[in-house]
Amino acid sequence: MKTLGLIGGMSWESTAIYYRLLNEIVRERLGGLHSAKLLLWSFDFAEIAERQHHGDWDGAGALLADAARKLEAGGAQGLLLCTNTMHKLADQVQAAVSIPLIHIADATALAIKRAGMQRPALLATRFTMEQDFYKGRLAGKYGLSPVVPDAAGRAMVHGVIYDELCQGIVSEASKAAYVAEANRLRREEAADSLIMGCTEITMLIGPGDFDIPVFDTTRIHAEAAVEFALD
Ligand code: GLU
Repeated sequence: MKTLGLIGGMSWESTAIYYRLLNEIVRERLGGLHSAKLLLWSFDFAEIAERQHHGDWDGAGALLADAARKLEAGGAQGLLLCTNTMHKLADQVQAAVSIPLIHIADATALAIKRAGMQRPALLATRFTMEQDFYKGRLAGKYGLSPVVPDAAGRAMVHGVIYDELCQGIVSEASKAAYVAEANRLRREEAADSLIMGCTEITMLIGPGDFDIPVFDTTRIHAEAAVEFALD
């Protein structure tokens, strides 16, 4: 089994979920006392979020690249960036190391294609919903047609991530707002599926809340990582 290096803490709420999922999936695959071989670099998310919201992506990228190099030096054989948003900097992180970065959007797109879906609704941070690094990859590399909420919807989804989920707050009202937003995208934008495109969203909603296929990026990413580790 290969050792995976996790660049986490963005936020630690979702990194804790990754830690559990990676170990559970290895146990499902290998049984008994088997568990994942992991190294974790966990950021103080306040330092990252401040750079995101000031548009200092170069500064954030330098921090991520430095973490990637340290994980490689520590023995990691593959890297996981435990956030969708920071895949904006995936190329910079990959360029810093010689081990592969397992890309969350690639794993997600492959799962969507396998399920025969085409037009997923994307709920994520404002950065992921509005910029091209994620939607553009789904469209350009995989021929998918993701749709996102309108400005008010994007502000709501983004606010819940930073003001609630990343701070460990899970509210019924926010859950209802997310479900309503996804259903609106289904009705008005012909979405045929839903991407939970932020690694904390799994704290709030899940496949049981919808009657369309739901793609949980945290789980999909963890499954792809175990696939890599056991290959
Ligand atoms: N974990 C989140 C994501 O998957 C948001 C936090 C961040 O900006 O990294 O996008």
